[in-house]
Amino acid sequence: MTKESSKITLRETLRIHWRAFQDVRRCCSAASFAVPALHAAFSALSPYVTVYFSAQIINELAGQRRAGVLWPLVALTLGISALLTFLTGALYRWREVLYAKYPFQENRLFTEKLLSMDFSQLDRTETHDLLAQIRQSENWMSWGLKQVFYGCEKLVQSAMGILGAAALTVTLFTLPVPETAGTLAFLNHPVFLLFLAAVLLLATWAGPAFRTKAEKYITRLSEEARFGNRLFQFFGYVSMEQRRGMDCRMYNQQTICRHYDRFSPFGIHGTFAVYARGPMGFWAALSSCVSAVLTGIIYVFVCLKAWAGAFGVGSVTQYVSSVTALTRNLSLLLETLGKLKSNVPFLRTVYEFLDIPNEMYQGSLTTEKRSDRQYQVEFRDVSFRYPGTDRWALRHVTLSFQIGSRMAMVGENGSGKTTFIKLLCRLYDPQEGQILLNGIDIRKYRYHDYMELFSVVFQDFQLLSQPLGANVAGSAKYDADRVRQALTDAGFGDRLAKMPDGLDTMLYREFAEDGVDVSGGEAQKIAIARALYKDAPFMILDEPTAALDPVAEAEIYSRFNEIAGDRTSVYISHRLSSCKFCDLITVFHDGRVVQQGSHEELLADKSGKYYELWSAQAQYYTTPDISQ
Ligand code: ADP
Repeated sequence: MTKESSKITLRETLRIHWRAFQDVRRCCSAASFAVPALHAAFSALSPYVTVYFSAQIINELAGQRRAGVLWPLVALTLGISALLTFLTGALYRWREVLYAKYPFQENRLFTEKLLSMDFSQLDRTETHDLLAQIRQSENWMSWGLKQVFYGCEKLVQSAMGILGAAALTVTLFTLPVPETAGTLAFLNHPVFLLFLAAVLLLATWAGPAFRTKAEKYITRLSEEARFGNRLFQFFGYVSMEQRRGMDCRMYNQQTICRHYDRFSPFGIHGTFAVYARGPMGFWAALSSCVSAVLTGIIYVFVCLKAWAGAFGVGSVTQYVSSVTALTRNLSLLLETLGKLKSNVPFLRTVYEFLDIPNEMYQGSLTTEKRSDRQYQVEFRDVSFRYPGTDRWALRHVTLSFQIGSRMAMVGENGSGKTTFIKLLCRLYDPQEGQILLNGIDIRKYRYHDYMELFSVVFQDFQLLSQPLGANVAGSAKYDADRVRQALTDAGFGDRLAKMPDGLDTMLYREFAEDGVDVSGGEAQKIAIARALYKDAPFMILDEPTAALDPVAEAEIYSRFNEIAGDRTSVYISHRLSSCKFCDLITVFHDGRVVQQGSHEELLADKSGKYYELWSAQAQYYTTPDISQ
């Protein structure tokens, strides 16, 4: 049974909305709920004031026509109406402002979850699917958490509306038609009144029930629409990003999206249109018909009673308005409950996402702050498979780092080097074996404390379209001298001198027309500076020079010892020639560590993987002597 089709009870409806209310309440002010509720109460009650006073005025006009009664009545009606209109209008504006802020406040719930969930969850398509579906439902018809606001507002509105209308309606049923009314006296008969009340209640129930039935089709469609919406997001926005622009033009990639035409449930031949032309349209139309018939019945009953002499002509307007309002508000109440019920599958999806468990063990030990950087890390027979895959990305890896040493990791593509770094930084936990920091399993440390030990320049690092200084420091406030020093150490000093606004220069042009587009090599130097600024005891560079030209590369290498200082550093590179300066070279092959040693030691083993890799690369370089 899918989560959409499983039975939804009123109990679940109320329970899940109460939970949603509490969650939304955490990120929104109390006014976000109070003001719309107050607005709803005012807009529900104020029409009755006009209805009541208008009826009094008409009755007086049709009866004794006393000026001394009429003038105060008119003045009172106008005064109260003006005041209520003003208050309702002011509350409406306030409510709109609060609603406009809402999406940003609610977004906090999702970003906090994304940032705190296990990193491995971000690899799963299901996680992104869920988020896409939540966004889609919210943008599409405000389903999900947003309904909590609308639900509260509508419940208050309908409750107030029912109370106000009931107060004005009671006398319609209690005022009898005079005995002289002849056959119309049946209007007084209790059986007739009961029958009428039953018809009114039935029609009041049927309208919203049919509308809810129509809306169920939208719920059914949400799953199907999810894939379509993710495609829309991708081809509509992501694929237009500047960094993809060149490839897109070169390979005419935009045509790929046509292939997905048939997936769209929103096209004219799509499922949505089929539903709208068929059952969904039928139930919606029937619901509107019922409302029209209901209004007709009310008119006939009120007019017959007035004709028979039960009340004056002024009261006809009052009763017609109040009974119509009563049934309308009863319908609104039922419709709101129906809508909340329809909203349950959407909230289930929201909580499927927000309740994704963090399975990585969260330890409580703090990593002691050591100025001598004496942090010893050891991998003990570690094996790891990416979630959802059968293949071991790392197998029985055992190695330890010498404090303050430089280790290079080499190996073919896919041999497990980056995976090793991801485990070292605890983005994933291994399925077998242990990783130890100063002899203690890293799982026992507090995650954030542990992360503080590492500065990593990932292969696919990303800079932000923000000022240069903020990029390096990872914060808008920073120590400018340290940032400058880090940039200079990373080899960006000359370029920094040419930056129009120094550290305040905006990178890229997404947010500033005069932003600076840095080259791939320059971006890499900035990323290295960012790692240096963090000043962590471990410095990890994953293919740090891939985008650098040979001159820049040579510059980084020649200063690597200086850059790394007394940090323990790990260095992944394709170019073996650039690893020679490292104290220890670890060779990966098929997820295993197959060799370890210095450049000279490894090269001496002519049957080893290192020699094979070195020889293969030597063909492409004019290295005069490969044994150097
Ligand atoms: P290297 O850094 O040596 O090029 P990786 O550590 O990136 O190698 O990859 C090791 C193996 O793990 C490869 O077979 C790769 O396809 C696989 N792999 C890498 N990342 C993922 C991932 N997120 N999900 C599944 N498999 C992955």
